[in-house]
Amino acid sequence: MSENRTISTNKILLKNTFIKLPNLFYTKQLPDNIPLPHIFILNDKLANDLGMDLSFLQSKEGTEFLSGNQVLENTNPIAQAYAGHQFGYFTMLGDGRAILLGEYQAKSGERYDIQLKGSGRTPYSRGGDGKAALGPMLREYIISEGMHGLGIPTTRSLAVSVTGETIIREEILEGAVLTRVAKSHIRVGTFEYASKFLGKESVKALADYTIKRHYPRIAENQKNAYHVYHNLLQQVIKKQAYLIARWQLAGFIHGVMNTDNMAVSGETIDYGPCAFMDRYKPDTVFSSIDTKKRYAYQNQPTIAMWNLARFSETLLPLLDSNPSKAIEIAEKEVMEFAQLYQRYWLDGMGKKLGIFSVEKEDIDLIKQLLDLMQKYKADYTDTFFQLSRGTAEQLEIYPAQGFQQWLKLWKNRLSSQNHSKEEVQKIMQQNNPTIIPRNYLVEEALEAAVKKQDNSILKKLVDALQNPYDYENIPLQYTKIPKDNSCSYKTYCGT
Ligand code: AMP
Ligand code: MG
Repeated sequence: MSENRTISTNKILLKNTFIKLPNLFYTKQLPDNIPLPHIFILNDKLANDLGMDLSFLQSKEGTEFLSGNQVLENTNPIAQAYAGHQFGYFTMLGDGRAILLGEYQAKSGERYDIQLKGSGRTPYSRGGDGKAALGPMLREYIISEGMHGLGIPTTRSLAVSVTGETIIREEILEGAVLTRVAKSHIRVGTFEYASKFLGKESVKALADYTIKRHYPRIAENQKNAYHVYHNLLQQVIKKQAYLIARWQLAGFIHGVMNTDNMAVSGETIDYGPCAFMDRYKPDTVFSSIDTKKRYAYQNQPTIAMWNLARFSETLLPLLDSNPSKAIEIAEKEVMEFAQLYQRYWLDGMGKKLGIFSVEKEDIDLIKQLLDLMQKYKADYTDTFFQLSRGTAEQLEIYPAQGFQQWLKLWKNRLSSQNHSKEEVQKIMQQNNPTIIPRNYLVEEALEAAVKKQDNSILKKLVDALQNPYDYENIPLQYTKIPKDNSCSYKTYCGT
């Protein structure tokens, strides 16, 4: 590495524990040299929360660091190897346009990956150019920060830099690099890669690393090693059940739930063609390439379970010495996903409707509402928002046949519990956002940013997305339901 490509500073310290794994798990790789790095947007709040030196990030050296034009002295940037099932088919993948700069220890003590996306080609790039365009990187910035505001586990966005390069897609676009922060980038696909190409010892090494990093308590008090990995499987399944329930409750559609886009930490990762559903329509798909609707809203829980089955297969040799016993354990745990998911979802739906202690019998009441919403093309977020505000009569669905009857049933259910109206309203408001990153809001912000170099609309939107449960200060300009209720919005991958 030439001298002018490294930054010598004590303002930020990065380690890389991942490189202690067998070396086929990664390739040492520097991000590309870029002509004119410039920070387009910096997440000051995240930097502060992490305990990073903001003045360093805002400096000339900070720009070099965040954009990957220079790397910190004595660090080991790498591209990670992984495989994955894409739309059901197994493929070798890896970081084709991402570089893990290293791990940063936040003031909370937690360790976070600092990764660049769009930083150039790697040995895993296949035919790609390793680059990213400004629009999609800003889109990830907005939506991931919106997810964080909603309290949904997610990777975060620290900055988006423009590179001074143009990149070629269907049109010529401005190049950009996203600086992503994640609990780790270990994917179900990383386990699949180890299992398929490296063998049992490497799977074990990866599992041990994952446990140490994400589930350190698992290693305590276990009768034998098999229990440790069995417990890892349980924990990963539980985290995913919770995550997918949160997605469903928020109306979030990931769009490309391939196994390489499922993080074992339980964070939402890889914001490509994702989008929030406006009107309630369970078969909604926004991704232009998902022609068979594999990753439709209503399929996300089953797909997650399918992905977890792939994960469980990679752990088989670590679950029991007897292969059929190992399969039995894996199958039982994967099946458990359905119950866990249902419990998280039902509990969340209960809260959205002000029901403190939700019972199985409440499913009918919930389902009736969802059916009405579907039938009358009601906006998902707005329906719960107006119910939480006590302004149901403002809903378009209000006069619809069956809705009054449903309201009556719902109110009866609420009065059957031992909670005041205020308590009910409070729990609803804590669980029904006033604002989500709606497609039209995201597009408005991106249009100004990409076409006019104006990041002010984007900044305002991201700020508002930080407090979606604040009913004292409702950002009314963001609560409008889109005029186009046709679900015709289209999203794209890997741009
Ligand atoms: P994704 O659909 O974004 O999860 O990406 C799937 C795979 O394609 C990953 O291995 C990415 O690293 C890779 N990839 C996506 N875009 C590019 C690109 N422009 N150049 C190289 N690799 C890419
Ligand atoms: Mg991906």
